[in-house]
This record gives sequence, structure tokens and C-alpha cells, in this order.
Amino acid sequence: MRVPQFDLTNQTERIQAEIHVAIENVMDHRQFILGPEIEALEKDLSDYCGARHAVGVSSGTDALLLALMALNISPGDEVITTPFTFFATAGVIVRLGARPVFVDIEPESFNLDVAKVEDVITEKTKAIIPVHLFGRCVSMEPLLKIAKENNIHIVEDDAQAIGARTDQGLAGAIGDAGCYSFFPTKNLGAFGDAGMVVTQDEILFNRLKKLRVHGSTEKYVYEEVGGNFRLDTLQAAVLQVKLKYLEEWTRKRMAHAHTYDSLFNNSVISDDNVAPPEIPGNNHVFHQYVIRARDRDSLRVHLKEKEISTGVYYPLPLHLQPCFQSYGYNKGDFPESETACDEVLALPMFPEITTEAQEYVVQTIRGFYS
Ligand SMILES: *Cc1c(COP(=O)(O)O)cnc(C)c1O
Repeated sequence: MRVPQFDLTNQTERIQAEIHVAIENVMDHRQFILGPEIEALEKDLSDYCGARHAVGVSSGTDALLLALMALNISPGDEVITTPFTFFATAGVIVRLGARPVFVDIEPESFNLDVAKVEDVITEKTKAIIPVHLFGRCVSMEPLLKIAKENNIHIVEDDAQAIGARTDQGLAGAIGDAGCYSFFPTKNLGAFGDAGMVVTQDEILFNRLKKLRVHGSTEKYVYEEVGGNFRLDTLQAAVLQVKLKYLEEWTRKRMAHAHTYDSLFNNSVISDDNVAPPEIPGNNHVFHQYVIRARDRDSLRVHLKEKEISTGVYYPLPLHLQPCFQSYGYNKGDFPESETACDEVLALPMFPEITTEAQEYVVQTIRGFYS
């Protein structure tokens, strides 16, 4: 049996007719730039996640960049985040001339260890970017308290966590801004690059809208320097269709995670070999189902030989990336993140995966260790 890590075939076939209609509508009205589908999607998405405002943008990376720009993050500022995330989370901080300040992760959740955040706050700290990694939420309540006491902004990186429920409400609607990615493999994926910033704050919303179009409110008059961060009308049309199915797809992901859990619990793999994720509560939308595995790289080769694709998110923590060397971090600074990089393995996960495929994956993992 061949098991891909991720597969859009069934999903795309099922909604093809609806998507065709949506795309043809755009071809008919030809408002390819900031067409009516953008505002419609912004409304649908802000309703969905319980935020007052939403601004469609060109990618998840640009969502983060635009949010930080709108919050005036500038050279000399410090922004706290996790070293165990996709590159973009820290890349955008550096692009604005600010300094990324890393905090290690909690080993159980792979998320920023909120208890360690206060230790690194200085007068220069302007923002924290919690990343709801793999679809599992950061504990927002203590983080909000710290942010409030220290007058620091929170920009949520929700790229992997659309629809996830935190202790304070849906991911994205809690911080000053929430940033979504609709990269095709994310839980809600476009047919190309796309993203969204949501916020409860009207002033920030207006600033985001202005900076999305080069800093202009009146045509050819620029009050400040923004960029071209617009979402394509065609992508908005596709996403409007797909958003209607998101809840169903999320429920399926959660059910598949449950199946993996039972399969691992009932198998003879000892805890020394494989640790499936520990998930209290319902705060996880399983963008990825990630285990820790002894001898991870050999296991991965073995699975590949058995036609099972897996992923490693992420093999190198951000504090050890060559481009961030000048910040003076060293190996050993964030041991939990470094260990996670050596051990994590993302198993096949997508709404349409079958139970037989999941059984085959767990059996094959068991076969490797026995
Ligand atoms: C995918 C992702 C991004 C970037 O989104 P793009 O749409 O690819 O630019 C940022 N942060 C995290 C955690 C991601 O997974």
C-alpha cells in the first residue's frame, strides 16, 4: 500500500464543480485585483474565527510581516518567539530590522514555554509571536497576562491552527493580530499562495488595509511606505468554497488522530521507541500528527521503503540557522527544541486518509522496532 503524507486528490475532485463556478465568476467580472470575493472571504473568515476584522493578503509570511509593520515593529525592537517553527515566523522579525529573541519549547506540546517568556523581556521587547504549532494551541491566558503587564503586543502565528480552540477562544482572534496561511498543504489551502490577518482592533485594521496597498488611502498619495500584500481575487474565490468544508475536514483530522492514538496504545511499541503526542482537551486541529521516534532517520528510510511518506518539521531550530548567526545563539541554548528536531516525525495526515492506511503505518513502525 502506498501512503502519501498528504493528498489533495479526493478533496479537490469532490468540490471541483463548485470551484469551477467560483473561478468562472471571477473570469466574468474580471476584477482580478481586490475583487468582491476578497471582502466576502474576509467577512466569512472573520465570522468563522470570531474576529471583528480580516484583511486578505498574499501569503502567511506576508500576513506576519504586515501585522508587525502595522504594529510599528522597527529596528532596535525585540520580538520573542520559538526557535521550533517554520522559518517565516522569525524571518519577518529580522526583515524589519528587529531582533528575534528565542524561548525554548515545552516538550509535550512543542509550543513556546510560556513560563520562560518573562525571563527574556527587556525595555526593547515590543511583541511576542506564539505559534500554535502542528495545530495545537499555546496557553494564551498566561501569555495575555504577561503581554498586558509589560505592554507588549501579541501576534498569533495561526498558519497551522485555523479553527483551533484555545483557552481564550478561537486561535487568531485573541492577540492584537492573528495570521493565517492558506498555503495549499495547510488545513485550509488555496490553489497557490494566500494568507489573512485578523484583528479585533479597528485602528489596526485600517492600518493593515493601508499598508497592504503601499501605504495609500487615496490613489497615488502615500502617507507611509507599505507594500503590495494583496490577496488574489481568484484565490479568495477558491477559499470561499473550501471554507465551507473546513469544519468537516477538521473533525476528520481529529478522528484520525484518535485512531492513531488507539493504534499506538494497542501496539507493542515501547515508549522508549515511539512517543505519540499527549493531547489533553480539544485544543488541537492536527495540521500534523507528530510522534517522537528513536532512530528517527532510519525509521523514516524504512517507512519510505514501504511506500509511506513522512515529514520532519523541523530538522534545524531557528537559533542555529546560518542566517541568524549574528544573534550569538549556540548549540545547547534551547535543548528541548534541539532534541525535538532530532526526534519528531510527522505521520501521514489529511482528512481523507483511510483507517487501513493508518493501520499499515503503525504496523510498519512496529515492524521497524521489533
Ligand atoms: C506555513 C507557515 C508560515 C508561512 O506561510 P506561507 O503562506 O507559506 O507564507 C508561517 N508560519 C508557520 C508556522 C507556517 O507553518
